[in-house]
Amino acid sequence: HLPPLIKRSFHTLHGPPDSSQEVGTEDIPSCGPEAIRVMQWNILSQSLGQKHDNFVACPEEALDWRTRRWKMLEEILIYKADILCFQEVDHFNFLKKTLGALDFSGTFFPKPDSPCYYIKGNNGPDGCAIFYNTNKFELIRTETRVLEVCTCQSNQVVILCIFRRKLDGREFCVATTHLKARQGTLLATLRNEQGKDLLEFIQEHYDGRPVVIAGDFNAEPTEPVYRTMTTCLEPRLDSAYAYYSNRYGEPPYTTWKIREEGEFCQTLDYIFFRKDSLELESLLNLPREEDIGEDRAPSFRYPSDHFSLVCDFCFK
Ligand code: NDP
Ligand code: CA
Repeated sequence: HLPPLIKRSFHTLHGPPDSSQEVGTEDIPSCGPEAIRVMQWNILSQSLGQKHDNFVACPEEALDWRTRRWKMLEEILIYKADILCFQEVDHFNFLKKTLGALDFSGTFFPKPDSPCYYIKGNNGPDGCAIFYNTNKFELIRTETRVLEVCTCQSNQVVILCIFRRKLDGREFCVATTHLKARQGTLLATLRNEQGKDLLEFIQEHYDGRPVVIAGDFNAEPTEPVYRTMTTCLEPRLDSAYAYYSNRYGEPPYTTWKIREEGEFCQTLDYIFFRKDSLELESLLNLPREEDIGEDRAPSFRYPSDHFSLVCDFCFK
């Protein structure tokens, strides 16, 4: 008798005004063969969520793995994305098995010194993962990197995959990362350096292909790393969710939680894309404040403190 997941709607960017449709979880249409639907989601590590995060308004039972994992899977599957970019994955085998049965294949790359290691009864390190629909795409190659700051390895990682679409043989590059958390000028500088290293890594591997970089950047749009991501690669990257409202600007939140220190309503997650080669077609709306509820997230209605971002791209 758990409450249903929060319902969200897609909106089309070039359609008639108010083409935004509220859809039941049963009837969200897939994006069609010409488009590529990408999901970005910090799924919340099971160990960190239960033992480290201190979500004071979240009932303990809502974090119980035996039920939370099915909510997680439901959130992943209802939007019918082709490419899934995840952070804080500490149950890769569960995802590999369940998504594998639905024709997804995936790669996992752990953080070198995951904070999960320090939690009693942990399920291994957390890290990033990319899954893709094997009916639609073929994996050409995967590259991974531990992000460096001033030539020293940090504790943050990136996975990059090069895919070929089976329909027409067109290739593209998808990367995902989870940058260093917590606030402060020093850490904002660290994230910016990680962003620069991430772009160098992309530069090394994308070889002229269209690029999508999805992640939990742990940085508000005002932080230097956001500017780095949108100006330092040539050809330029743009942020998909900057097209969320009519005026160019990121959504008001991608994560909303209550910790002992207070409430955190922040925009930290992004899907960057090469705008010279990809056309953004539609975006999944963020949940409304009244649907999230006063206790914010995670909750019985939503299994992570970060909301998933989903968008459709077409090749230009
Ligand atoms: P980060 O600072 O990047 O964050 C680790 C995790 O903590 C993230 O998943 C983050 O989630 C979450 N987080 C962010 N803010 C808070 C908060 N206010 N309260 C609770 N959790 C929060 O960590 P690093 O990857 O740099 O790793 C931490 C380092 O700390 C490790 O290298 C390890 O050595 C050390 N460590 C040691 C422990 C010990 O007991 N000795 C315990 C834990 C870590 P999000 O990105 O969603 O914000
Ligand atoms: Ca977290």
